[in-house]
Amino acid sequence: MGKPTGFMEFERELPPDRQPTERVHDWLEFHHHLPEDKLRSQGARCMNCGVPFCHTGTLLNGMASGCPVNNLIPEWNDLVYRGLWKQAIERLHKTNNFPEFTGRVCPAPCEGSCVLGINNPPVTIKNIECEIADRAWSEGWLEPKAPPKRTGKKVAVVGSGPSGLACADQLNTAGHWVTVFERSDRVGGLLMYGIPNMKLDKRVVQRRVDLMAAEGVKFVTSTEIGKTIPAQQLLEEFDAIVLCGGATKGRDLMIPGRDLKGIHLAMQFLHANTKSLLDSNHEDGNYISAKDKDVIVIGGGDTGTDCVGTSLRHGCRSLVQFEIMPKPPNARTPDNPWPQWPRIFRMDYGQEEAAEIFGDDPRSYSIVTKELVGDDNGHIKELNTIQVEWKRGDDGRTGPVEMPGTERTWPAQLVLLALGFLGPEDTVLEQLGVERDARSNAKAEHGEFTTNVPGVFAAGDMRRGQSLVVWAINEGRGAARECDRYLMGSTDLP
Ligand SMILES: Cc1cc2nc3c(=O)[nH]c(=O)nc-3n(C[C@H](O)[C@H](O)[C@H](O)COP(=O)(O)OP(=O)(O)OC[C@H]3O[C@@H](n4cnc5c(N)ncnc54)[C@H](O)[C@@H]3O)c2cc1C
Ligand code: SF4
Repeated sequence: MGKPTGFMEFERELPPDRQPTERVHDWLEFHHHLPEDKLRSQGARCMNCGVPFCHTGTLLNGMASGCPVNNLIPEWNDLVYRGLWKQAIERLHKTNNFPEFTGRVCPAPCEGSCVLGINNPPVTIKNIECEIADRAWSEGWLEPKAPPKRTGKKVAVVGSGPSGLACADQLNTAGHWVTVFERSDRVGGLLMYGIPNMKLDKRVVQRRVDLMAAEGVKFVTSTEIGKTIPAQQLLEEFDAIVLCGGATKGRDLMIPGRDLKGIHLAMQFLHANTKSLLDSNHEDGNYISAKDKDVIVIGGGDTGTDCVGTSLRHGCRSLVQFEIMPKPPNARTPDNPWPQWPRIFRMDYGQEEAAEIFGDDPRSYSIVTKELVGDDNGHIKELNTIQVEWKRGDDGRTGPVEMPGTERTWPAQLVLLALGFLGPEDTVLEQLGVERDARSNAKAEHGEFTTNVPGVFAAGDMRRGQSLVVWAINEGRGAARECDRYLMGSTDLP
């Protein structure tokens, strides 16, 4: 602990974001950086707690409390305070293969459980993590390090999202020959084609992929296992397979009018936007444009927020985001105490931007869409909604109850469905005969990651359902450890 009185001397301080009115005109990241002296003061706020809840990564009340990859947070906070940045990145890499991703996109359960957060604003853990990683890259400290010897074993990783990348990185470190198969034309999974560029610049993803390739990981893109190559062929050609294909089946909204033109699943909108941006700076026109349209985003989560930020950058005319749940409270309620993840009201980047441009938070709460209405050309023109109240029924469960008299019609030429995901796609799992759990995910225990098929492992969203980047890294690392144990009889991987 560098400075015992740091938490009393320094206020929590984050770098300012770029002004919403400026940043919606480009696709660049929206965070600025703090100068080094201020970062060191932020590191000094850490109390090096006897029981540092920030790095526990346990599930409390269904949500992660503390860091799911068990980052050694107090240690690197102290190193940052002392200006020992190189040691800090070494410590950070012990638990997290990709701190430059989590430092940008993680919701930071570590901060939700930081002990300082009981009666003060928590340590700025996520920002410090990001700065350690960015500095390591800009100083040139991250150079390719091939493993000292090869085992001769070959592993196929299916899917190149954060779980597949973390798994491949760990297995390569252990000396195995790793081939990552990806059906998209670029590597990265949702890091590349889900989360938009302004939240995670794709150059940040690509430089890590390039580093891994230089270290010996082979990436095969535009290749869908189960279609381009039969899954069975992988069993013959590789010593083990790790399935990291994500949970990409989008939930649809099957109500009258769903077949109208102008209604899209969020991922169709976001994927096409980033691909066109990267391919041609949008000049090829191969994306769904929100320009001059009244846009309605149905779904209030991260994916919905990314649709909001993307629509604003296209230049939409108006923007509304529907959320079926009621507005969360401004502060923790008694049934959501520290160190649980705080279920409180937040303005994310997309809502901040919309509020600045249109004068108000775009979210409308406790609302359900009943019908999508088209014009004479079969294009969406408006949609009809009703407000709901959340009430406990006779069975003890809380559910939405429609409130008569609250019907409303909204103009819309573009409707984006961001209603969550239903689970992994079937093809690979069926071809390999992998058993599924009750939620249709690949069945494998967390910690073991072994499926019913010998030599086949599963990790990330494909095993746990749509989750977070940090959980995907946790699972990719764990699956690599168990795969290494399977191949070698024992393992030194963490
Ligand atoms: C729009 C959006 C925004 C998000 N924002 C955040 C955020 O801000 N912070 C956060 O922590 N989490 C966020 N998430 C969740 C997070 O991105 C995921 O939990 C995480 O990416 C899961 O990683 P994964 O490796 O398991 O799967 P994915 O990232 O989904 O990667 C799976 C990959 O496998 C490929 N694939 C599938 N089947 C095959 C096959 N048969 N052959 C070859 N390739 C295949 C897919 O093309 C895909 O590239 C977001 C999710 C979405 C959809
Ligand atoms: S809980 Fe907060 S104050 Fe305590 S060690 Fe972790 S980051 Fe530092």
